[in-house]
Amino acid sequence: MLGKALFLDRDGTLIVGHHFLSDPGQVELLSGVRETLHRCMAEGFRLFLFTNQSAVGRGMFSLETVDRCNARMVELLNLPEPGFTEICVAPESPSMPVVYRKPSPRFIHEMMEKYSLDPAETWMIGDMPSDVAAGLNAGVHSVLLSQQPATDESAGVWCCRDLREFYARLLTRAPV
Ligand SMILES: [Mg+2]
Repeated sequence: MLGKALFLDRDGTLIVGHHFLSDPGQVELLSGVRETLHRCMAEGFRLFLFTNQSAVGRGMFSLETVDRCNARMVELLNLPEPGFTEICVAPESPSMPVVYRKPSPRFIHEMMEKYSLDPAETWMIGDMPSDVAAGLNAGVHSVLLSQQPATDESAGVWCCRDLREFYARLLTRAPV
């Protein structure tokens, strides 16, 4: 059987967005994220983190610094095993040739292949147009988290205020 999965942006989606976050002490979960991810795992969703970290490509800090911030987030989330199935970090700066950087769908494609994920049961969730585009490019569902009122969902992209609202909608599969 094919699996179901959520690909989750980090900054502004799971944790408070800081410009070029490098201090694990500044990692702060957004409201409702911890509970929602626990519920998603209980429903059988694999979780993947998918984050652009251009500061690495820009030479501002190392991948190890990103790893330390991710580890702090994982600690705060306190998810049951396996937690995130994989943590996908795209380190390219915008001026580098794009390989993994969103809106590239490559990470999603590789993970879908590796874990036999069902595109009809896979979601890319984030707070930026590049998150939405990565999901659309990968052929999975896309969700834009925004505090602005949802206006146009004509492309099939769900607009939700936060992760909690996305999950409530997912459970009922309210028509777009
Ligand atoms: Mg973001």
